[in-house]
Amino acid sequence: MMESYPIPMTPGPVMVPPEILAAYQVNYGSADTEPEFLDLYNQTEAELRQLFATSNRVAIQTGEGMLALWGALKSCLKPGDRVVAVASGVFGFGIAEMAESIGAVVKVVPIPYNQTITDWQAIEAALADYRPKMITAVHCETPSGTLNPMEQLGQLKREYEVPLLYVDVVSSLGGAPVKVDEWGIDLALGGSQKVLSCPPDMSFLAVSDAAWEIIEQVNYPGYDALKPFRTAQEAAAFPYTPNWHGTAALHVAARRILDEGLENSFQRHAVVADYCRERLVRMGLSLYPARSAVASPTVTAVNVPEQLGWPEFDRRLRARGLVVGGSYGPLTGKVFRLGHMGSQADLDLVSRALDIIEDVLKTA
Ligand code: PLP
Repeated sequence: MMESYPIPMTPGPVMVPPEILAAYQVNYGSADTEPEFLDLYNQTEAELRQLFATSNRVAIQTGEGMLALWGALKSCLKPGDRVVAVASGVFGFGIAEMAESIGAVVKVVPIPYNQTITDWQAIEAALADYRPKMITAVHCETPSGTLNPMEQLGQLKREYEVPLLYVDVVSSLGGAPVKVDEWGIDLALGGSQKVLSCPPDMSFLAVSDAAWEIIEQVNYPGYDALKPFRTAQEAAAFPYTPNWHGTAALHVAARRILDEGLENSFQRHAVVADYCRERLVRMGLSLYPARSAVASPTVTAVNVPEQLGWPEFDRRLRARGLVVGGSYGPLTGKVFRLGHMGSQADLDLVSRALDIIEDVLKTA
Protein backbone atom coordinates (compact mmCIF):
# COMPACT_ATOMS: atom_id res chain seq x y z
CA MET A 1 0.00 0.00 0.00
CA MET A 2 1.29 3.46 -0.90
CA GLU A 3 1.74 6.07 1.79
CA SER A 4 -1.09 8.63 2.12
CA TYR A 5 0.26 11.98 3.29
CA PRO A 6 -1.98 14.00 5.61
CA ILE A 7 -0.54 17.29 4.35
CA PRO A 8 -0.41 17.24 0.53
CA MET A 9 1.26 20.30 -1.02
CA THR A 10 2.39 19.03 -4.43
CA PRO A 11 1.54 21.37 -7.32
CA GLY A 12 -0.57 18.73 -9.01
CA PRO A 13 -2.16 16.37 -8.84
CA VAL A 14 -3.68 18.15 -5.86
CA MET A 15 -5.87 16.67 -3.12
CA VAL A 16 -9.23 15.62 -4.59
CA PRO A 17 -12.17 16.77 -2.42
CA PRO A 18 -14.75 14.08 -1.51
CA GLU A 19 -17.46 15.94 -3.47
CA ILE A 20 -15.40 15.52 -6.65
CA LEU A 21 -14.39 11.92 -5.87
CA ALA A 22 -18.08 11.09 -5.44
CA ALA A 23 -18.57 11.75 -9.18
CA TYR A 24 -16.45 8.63 -9.83
CA GLN A 25 -18.62 6.41 -7.62
CA VAL A 26 -21.76 6.67 -9.71
CA ASN A 27 -22.87 4.01 -12.21
CA TYR A 28 -23.55 6.00 -15.35
CA GLY A 29 -25.09 4.80 -18.58
CA SER A 30 -23.36 4.70 -21.94
CA ALA A 31 -21.83 8.10 -22.66
CA ASP A 32 -21.77 7.46 -26.43
CA THR A 33 -25.49 7.20 -26.81
CA GLU A 34 -27.35 8.81 -23.92
CA PRO A 35 -28.72 12.35 -24.13
CA GLU A 36 -28.04 12.74 -20.41
CA PHE A 37 -24.29 12.67 -21.11
CA LEU A 38 -24.65 15.30 -23.80
CA ASP A 39 -26.51 17.53 -21.32
CA LEU A 40 -23.68 17.09 -18.83
CA TYR A 41 -21.05 17.84 -21.50
CA ASN A 42 -22.91 20.99 -22.62
CA GLN A 43 -23.36 22.17 -19.05
CA THR A 44 -19.69 21.53 -18.22
CA GLU A 45 -18.63 23.37 -21.37
CA ALA A 46 -20.73 26.38 -20.30
CA GLU A 47 -19.08 26.36 -16.87
CA LEU A 48 -15.57 26.07 -18.30
CA ARG A 49 -16.34 28.96 -20.64
CA GLN A 50 -16.94 31.13 -17.60
CA LEU A 51 -13.58 30.09 -16.11
CA PHE A 52 -11.87 30.93 -19.42
CA ALA A 53 -13.90 34.19 -19.83
CA THR A 54 -14.73 33.21 -23.38
CA SER A 55 -17.63 32.63 -25.71
CA ASN A 56 -15.47 30.17 -27.71
CA ARG A 57 -16.29 26.50 -27.93
CA VAL A 58 -14.51 24.42 -25.29
CA ALA A 59 -13.43 20.91 -26.29
CA ILE A 60 -13.38 18.49 -23.35
CA GLN A 61 -11.03 15.56 -23.96
CA THR A 62 -10.08 12.41 -22.07
CA GLY A 63 -6.44 12.52 -21.07
CA GLU A 64 -4.60 15.00 -18.90
CA GLY A 65 -2.96 18.36 -19.70
CA MET A 66 -0.25 17.03 -22.03
CA LEU A 67 -2.94 15.65 -24.33
CA ALA A 68 -4.29 19.16 -24.87
CA LEU A 69 -0.78 20.54 -25.38
CA TRP A 70 0.02 17.93 -28.06
CA GLY A 71 -3.43 17.81 -29.64
CA ALA A 72 -3.58 21.56 -30.20
CA LEU A 73 -0.13 21.63 -31.82
CA LYS A 74 -0.78 18.62 -34.05
CA SER A 75 -4.25 19.86 -35.01
CA CYS A 76 -3.00 23.30 -36.07
CA LEU A 77 0.52 22.89 -37.45
CA LYS A 78 1.87 21.32 -40.61
CA PRO A 79 5.55 20.60 -41.29
CA GLY A 80 7.29 23.83 -42.23
CA ASP A 81 4.86 26.12 -40.36
CA ARG A 82 6.61 28.85 -38.39
CA VAL A 83 6.19 29.18 -34.63
CA VAL A 84 7.51 31.77 -32.17
CA ALA A 85 7.81 30.11 -28.75
CA VAL A 86 8.04 32.45 -25.79
CA ALA A 87 9.82 30.26 -23.25
CA SER A 88 10.59 31.04 -19.62
CA GLY A 89 10.62 27.57 -18.12
CA VAL A 90 10.31 23.81 -18.48
CA PHE A 91 6.93 23.93 -20.25
CA GLY A 92 7.71 26.91 -22.49
CA PHE A 93 10.90 25.30 -23.81
CA GLY A 94 9.17 21.90 -23.87
CA ILE A 95 6.36 23.18 -26.09
CA ALA A 96 8.98 24.60 -28.50
CA GLU A 97 10.55 21.12 -28.73
CA MET A 98 7.16 19.49 -29.21
CA ALA A 99 6.34 21.86 -32.11
CA GLU A 100 9.74 21.12 -33.64
CA SER A 101 9.18 17.38 -33.34
CA ILE A 102 6.10 17.63 -35.56
CA GLY A 103 8.02 19.53 -38.22
CA ALA A 104 7.36 23.17 -37.33
CA VAL A 105 10.20 25.66 -37.69
CA VAL A 106 10.49 27.23 -34.26
CA LYS A 107 12.11 30.44 -33.11
CA VAL A 108 12.46 30.48 -29.34
CA VAL A 109 12.43 33.76 -27.44
CA PRO A 110 14.28 32.60 -24.33
CA ILE A 111 13.72 34.08 -20.89
CA PRO A 112 15.64 32.91 -17.79
CA TYR A 113 13.73 30.35 -15.72
CA ASN A 114 13.50 32.66 -12.71
CA GLN A 115 12.08 35.57 -14.73
CA THR A 116 8.80 36.43 -16.43
CA ILE A 117 8.28 38.31 -19.72
CA THR A 118 9.53 41.91 -19.61
CA ASP A 119 11.47 42.20 -22.87
CA TRP A 120 8.58 42.84 -25.25
CA GLN A 121 10.97 44.17 -27.87
CA ALA A 122 12.61 40.75 -28.24
CA ILE A 123 9.20 39.18 -28.84
CA GLU A 124 8.21 41.93 -31.24
CA ALA A 125 11.44 41.53 -33.20
CA ALA A 126 10.85 37.77 -33.50
CA LEU A 127 7.31 38.35 -34.78
CA ALA A 128 8.42 41.02 -37.24
CA ASP A 129 11.27 38.87 -38.60
CA TYR A 130 9.55 35.59 -38.56
CA ARG A 131 5.85 36.22 -39.32
CA PRO A 132 4.80 32.99 -37.55
CA LYS A 133 1.55 31.07 -37.88
CA MET A 134 1.50 30.55 -34.11
CA ILE A 135 2.86 32.09 -30.91
CA THR A 136 3.17 29.68 -27.98
CA ALA A 137 3.42 30.75 -24.34
CA VAL A 138 2.85 29.46 -20.81
CA HIS A 139 0.86 31.51 -18.32
CA CYS A 140 1.98 29.80 -15.09
CA GLU A 141 5.30 27.96 -15.30
CA THR A 142 4.55 25.47 -12.53
CA PRO A 143 8.14 24.15 -12.18
CA SER A 144 9.49 27.65 -11.44
CA GLY A 145 6.44 29.23 -9.75
CA THR A 146 6.10 32.17 -12.14
CA LEU A 147 3.17 33.84 -13.92
CA ASN A 148 3.76 35.44 -17.31
CA PRO A 149 1.71 38.47 -18.34
CA MET A 150 -0.46 37.56 -21.33
CA GLU A 151 -2.46 40.65 -22.25
CA GLN A 152 0.35 42.35 -24.16
CA LEU A 153 1.11 39.14 -26.04
CA GLY A 154 -2.47 39.24 -27.34
CA GLN A 155 -1.95 42.84 -28.47
CA LEU A 156 1.24 41.88 -30.35
CA LYS A 157 -0.54 38.94 -31.92
CA ARG A 158 -3.16 41.31 -33.32
CA GLU A 159 -0.60 43.92 -34.38
CA TYR A 160 1.50 41.38 -36.29
CA GLU A 161 -1.57 39.50 -37.57
CA VAL A 162 -0.40 36.17 -36.20
CA PRO A 163 -3.20 33.67 -36.86
CA LEU A 164 -2.88 31.70 -33.60
CA LEU A 165 -1.98 32.43 -29.97
CA TYR A 166 -1.53 29.17 -28.01
CA VAL A 167 -1.37 29.55 -24.23
CA ASP A 168 -0.90 26.87 -21.57
CA VAL A 169 -3.12 27.90 -18.64
CA VAL A 170 -2.99 24.43 -17.03
CA SER A 171 -1.89 25.64 -13.59
CA SER A 172 -3.38 29.15 -13.52
CA LEU A 173 -7.00 28.66 -14.65
CA GLY A 174 -9.36 29.26 -11.73
CA GLY A 175 -6.59 30.58 -9.46
CA ALA A 176 -5.54 33.67 -11.41
CA PRO A 177 -7.43 35.75 -13.98
CA VAL A 178 -7.44 34.17 -17.45
CA LYS A 179 -9.26 36.27 -20.06
CA VAL A 180 -9.29 34.30 -23.27
CA ASP A 181 -11.45 36.66 -25.38
CA GLU A 182 -9.96 39.89 -24.06
CA TRP A 183 -6.38 38.65 -24.47
CA GLY A 184 -7.06 37.14 -27.91
CA ILE A 185 -6.05 33.58 -27.04
CA ASP A 186 -6.98 31.12 -29.80
CA LEU A 187 -6.03 27.92 -27.98
CA ALA A 188 -6.26 28.10 -24.18
CA LEU A 189 -5.19 24.79 -22.70
CA GLY A 190 -6.40 23.53 -19.33
CA GLY A 191 -6.03 20.36 -17.26
CA SER A 192 -8.10 18.76 -14.52
CA GLN A 193 -5.48 18.11 -11.83
CA LYS A 194 -4.46 21.65 -10.82
CA VAL A 195 -6.85 24.35 -9.52
CA LEU A 196 -9.91 22.27 -10.46
CA SER A 197 -8.65 19.59 -8.06
CA CYS A 198 -9.75 16.55 -10.07
CA PRO A 199 -7.59 13.48 -10.81
CA PRO A 200 -5.22 13.85 -13.81
CA ASP A 201 -7.58 12.43 -16.40
CA MET A 202 -9.16 15.28 -18.36
CA SER A 203 -8.15 18.27 -20.43
CA PHE A 204 -10.14 21.10 -21.96
CA LEU A 205 -9.33 23.74 -24.53
CA ALA A 206 -11.05 26.95 -25.50
CA VAL A 207 -10.74 27.10 -29.30
CA SER A 208 -11.39 30.30 -31.29
CA ASP A 209 -13.20 30.43 -34.65
CA ALA A 210 -9.90 31.24 -36.36
CA ALA A 211 -8.34 28.14 -34.80
CA TRP A 212 -11.28 25.92 -35.91
CA GLU A 213 -10.78 27.11 -39.50
CA ILE A 214 -7.11 26.13 -39.35
CA ILE A 215 -7.96 22.81 -37.65
CA GLU A 216 -10.27 22.01 -40.61
CA GLN A 217 -7.51 22.81 -43.11
CA VAL A 218 -4.84 20.79 -41.29
CA ASN A 219 -7.24 17.88 -40.85
CA TYR A 220 -5.07 15.99 -38.35
CA PRO A 221 -6.70 12.60 -37.61
CA GLY A 222 -5.09 11.23 -34.35
CA TYR A 223 -6.63 10.23 -31.02
CA ASP A 224 -5.80 13.69 -29.65
CA ALA A 225 -7.26 15.48 -32.71
CA LEU A 226 -9.43 18.50 -32.03
CA LYS A 227 -11.39 18.37 -35.27
CA PRO A 228 -14.13 15.95 -34.12
CA PHE A 229 -14.91 18.25 -31.19
CA ARG A 230 -16.08 21.03 -33.49
CA THR A 231 -19.25 19.11 -34.27
CA ALA A 232 -19.39 16.48 -31.50
CA GLN A 233 -22.30 18.08 -29.67
CA GLU A 234 -24.52 18.80 -32.68
CA ALA A 235 -23.81 15.37 -34.15
CA ALA A 236 -23.94 13.67 -30.72
CA ALA A 237 -20.88 11.77 -31.91
CA PHE A 238 -17.60 11.71 -30.01
CA PRO A 239 -14.38 10.22 -31.42
CA TYR A 240 -14.13 7.70 -28.55
CA THR A 241 -16.20 6.71 -25.53
CA PRO A 242 -16.33 9.90 -23.51
CA ASN A 243 -15.26 9.78 -19.88
CA TRP A 244 -18.57 10.30 -18.12
CA HIS A 245 -16.96 10.09 -14.67
CA GLY A 246 -14.23 12.58 -15.53
CA THR A 247 -16.69 14.98 -17.14
CA ALA A 248 -19.01 14.76 -14.12
CA ALA A 249 -16.03 15.48 -11.85
CA LEU A 250 -15.07 18.52 -13.97
CA HIS A 251 -18.64 19.75 -13.73
CA VAL A 252 -18.60 19.52 -9.92
CA ALA A 253 -15.15 21.14 -9.82
CA ALA A 254 -16.07 24.06 -12.08
CA ARG A 255 -19.32 24.55 -10.17
CA ARG A 256 -17.41 24.76 -6.88
CA ILE A 257 -15.25 27.58 -8.24
CA LEU A 258 -18.18 29.43 -9.80
CA ASP A 259 -20.24 29.08 -6.62
CA GLU A 260 -17.37 30.49 -4.60
CA GLY A 261 -17.10 33.27 -7.20
CA LEU A 262 -14.15 33.54 -9.58
CA GLU A 263 -12.90 36.77 -7.99
CA ASN A 264 -13.12 35.19 -4.54
CA SER A 265 -11.13 32.22 -5.77
CA PHE A 266 -8.41 34.54 -7.15
CA GLN A 267 -8.38 36.41 -3.85
CA ARG A 268 -8.11 33.18 -1.82
CA HIS A 269 -5.14 32.06 -3.93
CA ALA A 270 -3.44 35.47 -3.60
CA VAL A 271 -3.87 35.60 0.19
CA VAL A 272 -2.54 32.06 0.69
CA ALA A 273 0.41 32.68 -1.66
CA ASP A 274 1.39 35.89 0.18
CA TYR A 275 1.16 34.19 3.55
CA CYS A 276 3.22 31.25 2.32
CA ARG A 277 6.00 33.42 0.89
CA GLU A 278 6.22 35.74 3.86
CA ARG A 279 6.66 32.85 6.25
CA LEU A 280 9.21 31.05 4.06
CA VAL A 281 11.35 34.18 3.84
CA ARG A 282 11.06 34.75 7.60
CA MET A 283 12.39 31.20 8.10
CA GLY A 284 15.48 32.16 6.12
CA LEU A 285 14.60 30.36 2.87
CA SER A 286 14.95 32.13 -0.47
CA LEU A 287 12.31 32.13 -3.17
CA TYR A 288 13.36 30.88 -6.61
CA PRO A 289 11.75 33.58 -8.83
CA ALA A 290 13.79 36.78 -9.17
CA ARG A 291 12.39 39.84 -7.38
CA SER A 292 11.54 41.38 -10.74
CA ALA A 293 9.50 38.33 -11.80
CA VAL A 294 5.79 37.84 -11.16
CA ALA A 295 5.29 34.94 -8.76
CA SER A 296 2.25 32.76 -9.44
CA PRO A 297 -0.57 32.77 -6.88
CA THR A 298 -0.97 29.01 -7.37
CA VAL A 299 2.53 27.70 -6.63
CA THR A 300 5.63 28.81 -4.74
CA ALA A 301 9.08 27.68 -5.87
CA VAL A 302 11.77 27.80 -3.20
CA ASN A 303 15.52 27.14 -3.26
CA VAL A 304 16.28 23.85 -1.49
CA PRO A 305 18.03 24.47 1.87
CA GLU A 306 21.69 23.74 1.11
CA GLN A 307 22.48 22.29 4.52
CA LEU A 308 20.11 19.37 3.82
CA GLY A 309 19.95 18.92 0.05
CA TRP A 310 16.74 17.81 -1.72
CA PRO A 311 16.66 14.03 -0.99
CA GLU A 312 17.21 14.48 2.77
CA PHE A 313 14.90 17.51 3.04
CA ASP A 314 12.17 15.61 1.17
CA ARG A 315 12.68 12.54 3.39
CA ARG A 316 12.35 14.58 6.57
CA LEU A 317 9.21 16.36 5.39
CA ARG A 318 7.57 13.08 4.37
CA ALA A 319 8.47 11.53 7.73
CA ARG A 320 6.33 14.29 9.28
CA GLY A 321 3.42 13.76 6.88
CA LEU A 322 4.12 16.59 4.43
CA VAL A 323 4.67 15.98 0.73
CA VAL A 324 5.88 18.89 -1.44
CA GLY A 325 6.93 18.92 -5.10
CA GLY A 326 10.47 18.64 -6.38
CA SER A 327 11.17 20.26 -9.74
CA TYR A 328 12.24 19.30 -13.26
CA GLY A 329 14.89 19.86 -15.88
CA PRO A 330 17.63 22.25 -14.77
CA LEU A 331 15.78 22.88 -11.49
CA THR A 332 15.95 19.22 -10.37
CA GLY A 333 17.33 18.98 -6.83
CA LYS A 334 17.65 22.76 -6.55
CA VAL A 335 14.06 23.89 -6.19
CA PHE A 336 11.14 22.55 -4.20
CA ARG A 337 7.55 23.69 -4.63
CA LEU A 338 4.45 24.21 -2.58
CA GLY A 339 1.27 23.87 -4.63
CA HIS A 340 -1.30 26.10 -2.97
CA MET A 341 -3.84 25.67 -5.73
CA GLY A 342 -7.48 24.60 -5.71
CA SER A 343 -8.25 22.42 -2.68
CA GLN A 344 -4.75 23.22 -1.33
CA ALA A 345 -5.17 27.02 -1.44
CA ASP A 346 -6.17 26.72 2.17
CA LEU A 347 -4.61 28.82 4.95
CA ASP A 348 -4.89 26.10 7.56
CA LEU A 349 -3.29 23.43 5.34
CA VAL A 350 -0.48 25.76 4.21
CA SER A 351 0.13 26.90 7.77
CA ARG A 352 0.51 23.26 8.92
CA ALA A 353 2.90 22.62 6.02
CA LEU A 354 5.00 25.65 6.96
CA ASP A 355 5.11 24.59 10.63
CA ILE A 356 6.68 21.30 9.51
CA ILE A 357 9.20 23.01 7.22
CA GLU A 358 10.14 25.35 10.07
CA ASP A 359 10.61 22.43 12.41
CA VAL A 360 12.75 20.52 9.90
CA LEU A 361 14.98 23.56 9.36
CA LYS A 362 15.43 24.10 13.12
CA THR A 363 16.60 20.56 13.62
CA ALA A 364 18.82 20.45 10.48
N1 PLP B 1 1.51 22.62 -18.40
C1 PLP B 1 1.89 22.99 -17.18
C2 PLP B 1 2.27 24.41 -16.94
C3 PLP B 1 1.95 22.05 -16.14
O1 PLP B 1 2.33 22.41 -14.92
C4 PLP B 1 1.59 20.71 -16.43
C5 PLP B 1 1.66 19.68 -15.37
O2 PLP B 1 2.38 19.78 -14.42
C6 PLP B 1 1.20 20.38 -17.72
C7 PLP B 1 1.16 21.36 -18.68
C8 PLP B 1 0.85 18.99 -18.10
O3 PLP B 1 -0.25 18.57 -17.44
P1 PLP B 1 -0.45 17.01 -17.10
O4 PLP B 1 0.70 16.64 -16.22
O5 PLP B 1 -1.76 16.98 -16.43
O6 PLP B 1 -0.42 16.29 -18.38
